[in-house]
Amino acid sequence: AATIINGKELAQELRLGMKDEVKQLKEQGVTPQLTVVLIGDNPASKSYVNGKRKASDEVGILSNIIELPTSITEEKLLQLISELNNDQDVHGILVQLPLPEHIKEQHIIEAIDPSKDVDGFHPINIGRMMTGQDTLLPCTPYGIITMLQSKNIQIAGKHAVVIGRSNIVGKPVGQLLLNENATVTYCHSKTPDLKSYTRNADILIVAMGIPNVINEDYLKDDAIVIDVGINRVNGSLTGDVDFESAKNKAAYITPVPKGVGPMTIAMLLKNTIKAAKGLSDN
Ligand code: NAD
Repeated sequence: AATIINGKELAQELRLGMKDEVKQLKEQGVTPQLTVVLIGDNPASKSYVNGKRKASDEVGILSNIIELPTSITEEKLLQLISELNNDQDVHGILVQLPLPEHIKEQHIIEAIDPSKDVDGFHPINIGRMMTGQDTLLPCTPYGIITMLQSKNIQIAGKHAVVIGRSNIVGKPVGQLLLNENATVTYCHSKTPDLKSYTRNADILIVAMGIPNVINEDYLKDDAIVIDVGINRVNGSLTGDVDFESAKNKAAYITPVPKGVGPMTIAMLLKNTIKAAKGLSDN
């Protein structure tokens, strides 16, 4: 049976280390501050923001949540971002997605100062990631790499298959795996015969948003399976991977919940500390 990579425990461990780092920064007169902008009352967004606030509190990062009504104009939001960019006490800025339809996501992402872009979504940071430079990395992909490294799983030379090509998960996780010298295949909704790819995956990253579709039939023996999906089914959370089936064949597997989700938040904290240290050289 597979070894379970417990993201909740790993995130907890990482937060312990970060607590010390924050303490040291405070002794030097810097209190890392994360400002989260939450628009509207999407329950999932609210719960994510709440999780980010709790985790920040735990490590001593000051979190400031700005709640705005759905009716806010793009212009007003851009104005707020500009103020936050200019506020020296604010080290990290995160605008919780999705945004209301009348606001263009890309306009908002590109308005954030790249050195405060703790989500790692700004094209400058994505470009830096692609060219292998030190930068603020997107949190979920960064969390996935950290999970693999925590188990000393070798990435170099492995065939990594990524299912999903979103800008926040699929594309960047493939890039980070490539940066670690994996051979990377991307699959997506237009890929015919998904199994013909996944059965050749040493490392399989699943980010589809479809509950429990990937079972042991999709896996190579001893595959490393990272389940990014978060789906609400009958009131409980489930991943994209059929855990009970896949764990028979995988060497390593991440559960949902207690998998990638908590790691995403831990990496957000890590990015905020990095931004507070002024390590992202903008
Ligand atoms: P998305 O909807 O933007 O992308 C889904 C991707 O899956 C698309 O690129 C699509 O091409 C691909 N896909 C859909 N059906 C497919 C099929 N039948 N075969 C192959 N590929 C298919 O989603 P996203 O934002 O990348 O998120 C994916 C999942 O991960 C969601 O469940 C989301 O909730 C979850 N998520 C989790 C975290 C975390 O911290 N754990 C973070 C972000 C997203």
